[in-house]
Amino acid sequence: MLERRELFPNVIELNFQARRRMGCCVYLIYSGSDWMLLDIGYEDTVDELINLIRQLDFPLANCKYLVATHADADHVQGFQKAKEMLPGSQLVAHFEAKKILESGDRIASFAEIPMQGISIEMPTFVIEKEVSEADVLQLGDLNLQVWDTPGHAIGQLSFRLGNLLFSGDNIFRDGCVGSIDCHHGSDIPAFILSLKRIQASSVEWLLPSHGPAFRNDRKLLQSAIDRLDRYQHMADFGTCAVDWPLLNEWEVELGKGTHPTSHTCSDM
Ligand SMILES: [Zn+2]
Repeated sequence: MLERRELFPNVIELNFQARRRMGCCVYLIYSGSDWMLLDIGYEDTVDELINLIRQLDFPLANCKYLVATHADADHVQGFQKAKEMLPGSQLVAHFEAKKILESGDRIASFAEIPMQGISIEMPTFVIEKEVSEADVLQLGDLNLQVWDTPGHAIGQLSFRLGNLLFSGDNIFRDGCVGSIDCHHGSDIPAFILSLKRIQASSVEWLLPSHGPAFRNDRKLLQSAIDRLDRYQHMADFGTCAVDWPLLNEWEVELGKGTHPTSHTCSDM
């Protein structure tokens, strides 16, 4: 048996456990004899992850849930294979993610990005349990509170466990946020609300889906909120912006006949 390297009581992260980076964060949460996984990553790491779990002395028959934080391929591609190895578990997701995963939507799941030559297998699978805001996922003596935290992706979930928040792709330790891309339902106003909720909460630690866990640092959250607030009014993220004030200004200038060369950009 391998020594369990708990990140927090009842929480193991499998990259940290293995002391090397295999993919997205895969959290193993356990209580008594029950355990569950939050995300799984790509299919080609599933054998190794399950083998590691076996060596940590978690009986495979006791896996209760396989949870998708959202439907992105780098988080969920391996679930079909994992489910075959853990047949007693239930696949869990938000209903918006369920729609993507069950229909095999290759664009919304990032399995297919034609302009970058990205095209990977994306098995379709049946989500057996839908969860959303205010639901509780029970595992032994533990209760994980479900938070809807859309913004990066439609149907993205976070899970609160006491002073911990499994925070998905909301924010990472360097202040980056999950990619903003209209093709998988990114919504900047919703993203800001999700970040504000995390910031205002009494959660002390964030356990993201990529990179190391870190403190719920209100300043870091604020800088991300301020950045996304600006994005709402900029062309940088195209159709994800809510408006583009430059075009309103231009309309006024056109109406007045203001010559473009008379405009100074010094106030930018
Ligand atoms: Zn991700």
